[in-house]
Amino acid sequence: MSEPLPPGSTIGILGSGQLGRMLALSAARLGLKCHSFADAHGPAMDVTAAQTIAAYGDEKALAQFAASVNAVTYEFENVPVTTARFLEGLVPVRPGPRALEIAQDRQTEKNFITGLGIPVAPFVDVSKANDITAALVKWGTPAILKTRRLGYDGKGQISLVPGAGADKAFAAISGQPAVLEQRVTFVREVSVLLVRGVDGAIDAYDLPQNTHTNGILARSVVPADIDCATAQAAHAIAKRIADALGYVGLLAVEMFDRGPDAPPQSRLIVNEIAPRVHNSGHWTIDACVTSQFENHIRAVAGWPLGSCARHSDAVMDNLIGAEAQDWQRLAREPGTALHLYGKGDARPGRKMGHVTRLAAKTGD
Ligand code: AMP
Repeated sequence: MSEPLPPGSTIGILGSGQLGRMLALSAARLGLKCHSFADAHGPAMDVTAAQTIAAYGDEKALAQFAASVNAVTYEFENVPVTTARFLEGLVPVRPGPRALEIAQDRQTEKNFITGLGIPVAPFVDVSKANDITAALVKWGTPAILKTRRLGYDGKGQISLVPGAGADKAFAAISGQPAVLEQRVTFVREVSVLLVRGVDGAIDAYDLPQNTHTNGILARSVVPADIDCATAQAAHAIAKRIADALGYVGLLAVEMFDRGPDAPPQSRLIVNEIAPRVHNSGHWTIDACVTSQFENHIRAVAGWPLGSCARHSDAVMDNLIGAEAQDWQRLAREPGTALHLYGKGDARPGRKMGHVTRLAAKTGD
């Protein structure tokens, strides 16, 4: 196992969004520098020690970037796998490109997860409209058509309700390769935020319970309204995934909890995994001893993991679009931690910041 990177070392971050920004702020606290690499300027670049703006396929720029950093990580899962593999030949890339490859393609992801004996929503592969028709004959509606690649925050998804036409749905995703999922009923959505070190050590945060609006995360609440045995089962599922990948860093696993009436073996269904820090873990900055961002940096730098222990209850609300314009009132609110990402244009649906409201800890 390699030696931990000493303070003063530089971590390269592919991507320049708010997740990269919060990673860089955490790294700075540990005396580590960050160099962000992305194809456009983003909010991370305002807080990193060095920045490169170049195409993800620009091997000359990537080689220069690799020469200037001691390890590389990424803050979004659509970094081309070829970029991560190219960099891997020059510098440690954590988590490894295999995690990216799996998370980038919903079909590969589902096959990987079911291959570990972990349930996902019933799905079929879709390469033509007829695949949708055949599945709907078998299952009926409701169902959700999701593009295999480049879907996030509800993008690239079409909800199929009674009477929905397969041709129309397939045309709406421009005939891209897709999966059709049965819409499952669940009582709550939770996510596991697990961190795995270079030495295989694992720790995980208390589960947040998540609410989405229009496919975008709106709120995460900790503790989740879930019994201890189910929370442990959720953590065990995420551990199986992390171990199978030899994962290093923060892994998020989004799950549906189908409640106590579901068969125990399929009470928890994995929706998707994210090989990076995750929006449903933002509350860890203010409510835990070590945030998801710091723990990701620690893992990437080969450091011992920090404690995931939670010292407060928390409700995290995303500030989407114009909601961030309320910053003056939020800045005055007692017990509220305000985070703004420094993005200029408050377009509808754009994540502009978040607030975490803290309260005395319950739920042990
Ligand atoms: P995704 O982009 O796959 O994370 O989906 C966004 C949100 O849509 C999820 O967090 C759920 O609220 C909902 N959703 C996605 N897939 C399903 C499904 N198979 N059954 C029920 N709800 C779903």
